[in-house]
Parts: sequence; structure tokens; C-alpha cells
Amino acid sequence: MNTFHDLGLNEDLLHAITDLGFTKPSEVQEKAIPVLLNSETDLVALAQTGTGKTAAFGFPMLQKINVDSRTTQGLILSPTRELCLQITNEIKLYGKYCKGLNVVAIYGGASITEQAREVKRGAQIIVATPGRMKDMISRNMVDITKIEYSVLDEADEMLNMGFKEDITDILSHTPKDKNTWLFSATMPKEVAAIAKNFMHKPQEITVGTKNEGSSQVSHEYYLTNSRDRYLALKRLADANPDIFSVVFCRTKRDTQKVAEKLIEDGYNAGALHGDLSQNQRDLVMKAFRNNQIQMLVATDVAARGIDVDDITHVINYQLPDEIETYTHRSGRTGRAGKTGVSMVIISKSEVRKIKSIERIINKQFVKKEIPNGMEICEVQLMSLANKVHNTEVNHDIDNYLGKINELFEDSTKDELIKKFFSVEFSRFHNYYQKAPDLNISESSKSNDDDRSTSNTTRYFINVGKKDGYDWMSLKDFLKEILELGRDDVFKVEVKDSFSFFNTENEMKEKVLAFFTDFKYNGRYVNVEVSENRGGGGGRKRDRRRGGGQRDDRRSNFKGKNDRKSSSGKSKSRRSKSDDFVASRPRRSRR
Ligand code: AMP
Repeated sequence: MNTFHDLGLNEDLLHAITDLGFTKPSEVQEKAIPVLLNSETDLVALAQTGTGKTAAFGFPMLQKINVDSRTTQGLILSPTRELCLQITNEIKLYGKYCKGLNVVAIYGGASITEQAREVKRGAQIIVATPGRMKDMISRNMVDITKIEYSVLDEADEMLNMGFKEDITDILSHTPKDKNTWLFSATMPKEVAAIAKNFMHKPQEITVGTKNEGSSQVSHEYYLTNSRDRYLALKRLADANPDIFSVVFCRTKRDTQKVAEKLIEDGYNAGALHGDLSQNQRDLVMKAFRNNQIQMLVATDVAARGIDVDDITHVINYQLPDEIETYTHRSGRTGRAGKTGVSMVIISKSEVRKIKSIERIINKQFVKKEIPNGMEICEVQLMSLANKVHNTEVNHDIDNYLGKINELFEDSTKDELIKKFFSVEFSRFHNYYQKAPDLNISESSKSNDDDRSTSNTTRYFINVGKKDGYDWMSLKDFLKEILELGRDDVFKVEVKDSFSFFNTENEMKEKVLAFFTDFKYNGRYVNVEVSENRGGGGGRKRDRRRGGGQRDDRRSNFKGKNDRKSSSGKSKSRRSKSDDFVASRPRRSRR
């Protein structure tokens, strides 16, 4: 095993490494640092976040640049503002003994003139997000024509976020003979194309296998009905009292909704998504870093660049649209040598996606049971018992000991323990004692999800394939106009000129009321209760109002792409399951 000294790093850097407490190089550092120090080469490194990759490119860059010159020699591009700031901070720490070093962060959402001023003072290294960098180049606020080293960090994320053109544009302002070091967690075609088009015979380094997640992370999935997703989430949190987690949702709306519900139910939760202002996001991230938030509910985009080392769990409340994104999500845990768990809550129709993810990450998921109420009570009780056992005695209590002893004069130790723990235990016990089993079996028969048709209403709607819909886009459309959650519309079946969908019975009134007079692009959209129960049965629908009329209306319909937003607002439902939530015990702050 090499030491940092063996890798060829100079005294200034070794001194900083000692201060940082790094005892040995990580795998990516061991592989990348000697290559970058000893040759002028391009490099493609496949490495997850949390593997120490910032130091893997940061140390060589710091050692190779000339700090006596004020010329910008190193450019690091990163996908998000958060990551940009983190890299800047790390590089400053690594270079703290490099006298004269100036590292400047360039990112959107902050004063461009202030950033330009800092650059002008002489920045040997610029760490930037692509959008702001391009902006500053076009305004002649930076000069990157003498760059010797450029880094594309989290290249796959930058491409995912649509920065390809910006990156191409930025690189066109840099010298041809510079070295480019590309770091990416995954290697989709687009990243391979960048390596091919912009790099010259790059050396390749792989930490783990291509696209594979960190070996420190174990993967679990939990199978439940879609409508029980939220309850399952709470069980998973309750079964892990010291959880410090990122909970991923697919949309901003679901992210906000889940976070709000968790807060309402007494969890230390917060939301992180693109509809929040930068200031709000900074506050949430600060609270998360300080452990005031135990469950950070986030969208994939907003969570990019979350660089917190001690996340114990990643919870996939919903699977991502692109399964490759799963690698990024799970990479938020198991960082800096720690272990982590990535949990996925899925309904039956998503089981096949687990198989696809397994192929991508080259690891097996373990199917786990959602804990039942009594298991959670036991975990909570033992967690409290351990906390009590490990608590240091506060001797200010000594003054009151006499009175307390008097009160418990007649109690035995056993009685006292029982009473003491009942205070906490009863709250959980009352809540969980009649809690239903949330698990469902993989083999039971179901298509879209498990809702029993007797609790649900099937509707007919006079739009279909001819209007440009498939089941997914119609589901999205209905969810949006009715302001419903992801799982509230199901069994969507799209025919040529009409379609069917289901909701739970309790939403029937709301759905029908909404469509009583709903005009869309000049045409009435008609929704009626159908007799077709869905799932491949007969096609008998309620024709009380006449099918012909529906077809007439359809002819004017412009399709989903022309739609304007609806003003029909109504509060989203509280499900039966949610009523159960109301009596849940409040959690105490960590
Ligand atoms: P990164 O993958 O660069 O985001 O690094 C993840 C975390 O690991 C950061 O907090 C680094 O400070 C830390 N780190 C980097 N290299 C080492 C090392 N060799 N030993 C211990 N921690 C490290």
C-alpha cells in the first residue's frame, strides 16, 4: 500500500494532508495521482463521488501549477453550484501551504462582478459551473486561453443537465495542448463521445467497475402498494432511529409534499428542489449538514452535489425515470470509507426495474420486509435504553434526588424501569399496535398496482391516442390538472379516441366536480364513471350521456402539447392511510 509520500507529492501538500488527517490514499488517488504527476496526459477516471476524487485531480493540479504566476492555469468545471463551492473549499484546504495560491469559484446566483473582481486579482485555479463560465467568457471577464489543465468533474451529470454545448463552447476558448482530466461516475455514450472528441489518447482509470456503485453501499428493496408508499417510508425511518438520510422523489411537487407530510408527522425533515430560492436551499443544506434535518427529501437535480459524508441511508421513495440515475442517488451514502444503505420502496409493477438496476450496478438487491409495528416499537425501545445507558449523568439532578426518591419509595427497580420506558414506549405502541402489514407478495396477481377495485372508481374520459396521449402522458396530465399525487391516478388505459383511469373512491366527487364544466382548448373534456373495472375486463361503459357527443367534442381537441394550465384548484386528498398518521407520536429532535 502506497503512502501519499510514495505517490510523489511535495512537502506543502503532504503537510496539508497531515492536517486533514488523511492517513492513506484512496483507490482513485493511488491510481490517478502518479499518472497525472509524472506525465502530461489526458485522463478518463471512472469514480463515484465520495471516493476522494477531488484530491485525485486537486493534488496533481496544485503541484503542477506555478503559484508565482497570476495567470489562470487550471480550470475545473462542475455541474452544480454546491459542488463548485465544495471543490473550491477542498482545493483551498489541500493548497493551504502553497503560498500565493488563489482559487476562485464561479457560479450562477451570485454577483458576477464580484467574481470577475476576484478573478482579476489573479486566480491560478478557477472552479466553475458551465453556465456562469460561458457568460463570463462572453463578457471578457475571464481569460482561459493559457489553461494548462482542465477538469470535467461529474461529466455524466453535466451532460445530463444539458451542459454539453456550454462545455464545448468553453473548451473552444482553451489551448489545444492542455491536458484534460475527466471524472465521471458512469460512462454513458455521451461521456464516451466527449472523451473521444475532446481528448487525446486519454489514460483510463476505473475505480470499481464501470457504472458500478460503491462497494460500501448495500441495496435493499421493499415491496408495497403504491398508496402505502408514504407509510412504508415512515416505517423505514422509525425502524432506524439514528437515520440521517436523503429521500429521493421524482418530481418537485412530490418532494415538497412528502417533506411537508413528514414535518407534519413530527420528523426532522426538509425539502430540497428547484422551486426553492437559492437562499432557501442554502438554509436547508445548512440544517442538513448540522444534523438538524434527519431526512432531506430531494429531487435528483437538487441533490446533485450534496457532499455530506455521514449519510446513513438513501431512500428511493420513487425510482428515478432514468435508472442510471440510481447510481448517483445511492452514491450519496457510503462515502469516505463509511458504509451505507440504499433502500427502494417499490410497487409490484416496478420489480422488473430492480433487475435492470442490478445489471447496471452489478450488485444484487436484498428484498426486505417492511417492519411491522411491534418490531418498530422494539427498535425504538432498545434505542432509548441504549441512549439512557450511555448518557452521562448530569449532577445538577443530585439536588432533586431526595424528592424523586421519596416519590418512588415503594417502587422496585423493575417497576421503575417499566414506568420510565413506558413514557416513550406507549406513544409508539399506541400508534403502532394496530398498524397493518404493508408488505405485499411479488407473486400475487396485479397489473398496475394492488388497489382492490371495490375501493376505487373507474372513469371514462373522451381523450385518447388520437389526441397524442399514451398512458403515461395521460396520467401526468390528469395528475397535473387535478393536482393529485403520483400514485393517485392508476390503471390508465388509452384507446384511440377515449381512455379509462382509476382513482380511489374518496376522490370521485372531486374528479367529477372538476370535469363538470372543464373546457380545454375550446373543447369540453368529458369524464364519467365507467362500468369497466379495468384490468382487462369487458368494455361496458356507462353511456347515460351518450358516446356520440363525446366523439364530436374530441374532434376539436388539440392534444396535450397545446394545453394551457388549468385554474381548477382543489386540495389533494388525505387518504385513509393518512388518517392513521394523525395520531403518530412526535419525534424528539436529534
Ligand atoms: P470526494 O470524493 O472528493 O468528494 O471526497 C469525499 C470526502 O473524502 C471528502 O470529505 C474528502 O475530504 C475525503 N477524503 C478525500 N481523500 C481522503 C483520504 N485519502 N482519506 C480520508 N478522507 C479523504
